Amino acid sequence: MSQVMVDVHGVHKSFGPLEVLRGVDLKVRTGEVTVILGPSGSGKSTLLRTINHLEKVDRGWIGVDGELIGYRRSGGKLYELKEKDVLAQRTRIGFVFQNFHLFPHLTVLDNLVEAPVSALRRPRKEAEAAARLLLARVGLADKAGAYPRQLSGGQQQRVAIARALAVEPKVLLFDEPTSALDPELVGEVLDVIKDLARTGTTMIVVTHEIGFAREVADTVVFMDGGVVVEQGPPAAVLDAPRQERTRAFLSKVL
Ligand code: ADP
Ligand code: MG
Repeated sequence: MSQVMVDVHGVHKSFGPLEVLRGVDLKVRTGEVTVILGPSGSGKSTLLRTINHLEKVDRGWIGVDGELIGYRRSGGKLYELKEKDVLAQRTRIGFVFQNFHLFPHLTVLDNLVEAPVSALRRPRKEAEAAARLLLARVGLADKAGAYPRQLSGGQQQRVAIARALAVEPKVLLFDEPTSALDPELVGEVLDVIKDLARTGTTMIVVTHEIGFAREVADTVVFMDGGVVVEQGPPAAVLDAPRQERTRAFLSKVL
């Protein structure tokens, strides 16, 4: 069995009186695709945000590639990492947002080159060459000089995926990557994610695209009320769910 890349262990997170994550456990193995399904408000985005420490957990811990996120252990004690060390961890965890979040004032190429040069200290020439290969991979080799506003939503999201890949992330997190797109543009973005799955990129994808989950996921996770209600291979969770809450959700979205 392959190694565990992402290990979420007993994670709790509250916002004021609202407990949004109530003891989440999740293991994602290297090279596997995990799709997270669940109703709005169930804590999916918050969970993704804890994995790259955009949200600090109240209880539990998260490991990525054997490193504790946000902390280091020394002499049996836990110490919070300094901001620059958190940023270094975050750089190697790719995040693709619903609304693309490209830098509007930078060209497509410069969007891809920014993090490798400024955070990873790669030589600019090298970063540009790598960026051009990534643009070709998402079918946008001819858009290197364009600005985000000149692109369709589907093209912008493909740039965002290429940008996330530019730092050679250990894991890619997607938060509803196709929810903001016109229906006719969803397919081109899912095709890029499918291609990454085939080449063994470790990914966690929050989505409502059940067909995509069935086709691409190694594991489907159903979340509700801040906990993982059920998880397993797509055929088990989607076609023979064991929990009533999973059945109720699927009957609404299928
Ligand atoms: P999902 O992505 O599954 O729709 P979220 O993780 O975005 O769920 O949100 C779960 C709950 O936490 C929601 O009730 C949301 O309003 C609340 N929440 C999320 N982020 C914050 C925040 N920064 N402050 C207060 N409440 C928040
Ligand atoms: Mg969300």
